[in-house]
Amino acid sequence: MDSSTPHYDVVLTGDRIIDPATGRNGPAQIAITGGRIAAVADDLGPHTAGETLDARGRIVSPGLIDIHVHVYEWVTNFGLDPDDAGIHSGATTIVDQGSAGPWTVGGFKAYIADPAITDVRSFVSANVAGALMGGMEGTVLHNPGMMRIEAIEAALADYPGLVKGIKSHGESGGFSHWETEVLEMAVEAGERTGLPLYVHTGELFPVDEDNRPQPEKVMEAFFPLIRPGDTVAHVYSCMPDGIMGPGDAVPEIVRETLARGVHFDIGYGLNFSYRIARAMMAAGVLPNTIGSDVHGDFNGYHDDSKLDYSLCGAMTRLMALGMPLEDVILRTTLNPAKILGEEDDIGTLAVGSRADITVLDPVAGRWDLPDAEGEVLTVDERLVPWLVIRDGKPIAPDRRLLRDVWNTDVPAAAQ
Ligand SMILES: [Zn+2]
Repeated sequence: MDSSTPHYDVVLTGDRIIDPATGRNGPAQIAITGGRIAAVADDLGPHTAGETLDARGRIVSPGLIDIHVHVYEWVTNFGLDPDDAGIHSGATTIVDQGSAGPWTVGGFKAYIADPAITDVRSFVSANVAGALMGGMEGTVLHNPGMMRIEAIEAALADYPGLVKGIKSHGESGGFSHWETEVLEMAVEAGERTGLPLYVHTGELFPVDEDNRPQPEKVMEAFFPLIRPGDTVAHVYSCMPDGIMGPGDAVPEIVRETLARGVHFDIGYGLNFSYRIARAMMAAGVLPNTIGSDVHGDFNGYHDDSKLDYSLCGAMTRLMALGMPLEDVILRTTLNPAKILGEEDDIGTLAVGSRADITVLDPVAGRWDLPDAEGEVLTVDERLVPWLVIRDGKPIAPDRRLLRDVWNTDVPAAAQ
């Protein structure tokens, strides 16, 4: 080796490297130096490396981005540990959806985002406080009196790298009390700040039963307000007031909304339905992003003992329903990076971008995956994170919260 031989911090060799951003799909070597992708080539040629990683037999993708998590632990009742939801679940970047509001996002930065190894971002809640009680106490926390558009503007000015959007809701509870007033204010905040919205769908807050809307009327009222580039969540949810509505056929307004450039997210969560997913996928209604909506239980603080879904579980289910692996990776890398406006730096393996990488193990074996309606899909292969590289540093994920795709009671070596 002469002095012109390049030296890299880390070199990863794989035979199945999938990067929708650059179009690479196949064997390659990835070189990392100083936390950046230094080179990607079929064969790097002569080089030296501080650390070499052999990922052959596994799937190598840009670091996964989970666009929907809840990680304001202890301040909200349903927040998870950010690294449990992030790197230890295979995601190098996670986006908290509305746990923090503009008056509480400073604490989110100091106590959650800054100490985490995972890259943590926030779509701030449209209300000032955030989702302090998960899906509960909606009338207290999410009413129009709790909105301050100028507070959202201030939050963006104070924390521009952290605050990347605004979380709001379009569901029966809020509609029964205030119709579309809160979403209208959130859109106004989006217009003033240039931030995209992420809009929850499906009954969540307590409904004023004297004003309960017909389920099909809810999204008819909210959809027209939602702008191109905004995201509507829980696209394959079985909630009757959700995107599909109460019927079995995709409503015309859903196609119109897609055609206008509004995005849909999986937002896997508590209400994902294979029945709805099959009908929507057959009609060509596909998610732009695959978010997990992982969170703890609403009935106590910091209780993740019942969480039984995950980002990798959502990816595995979509593959089992017929979505090709490349499309699943597109929706967990490049597409969410574009929502964050950072596709040049994350969600890609392009030379010069940040060295965030996820290596997935395609674990073989029959495995049952239930949905919210109790239907069970038996799969032969599931995606389980084997390694993440965050800012150039390899980390073995502990998979503690991956109960749906991994037997967390059995040591890794025994599986
Ligand atoms: Zn959520």
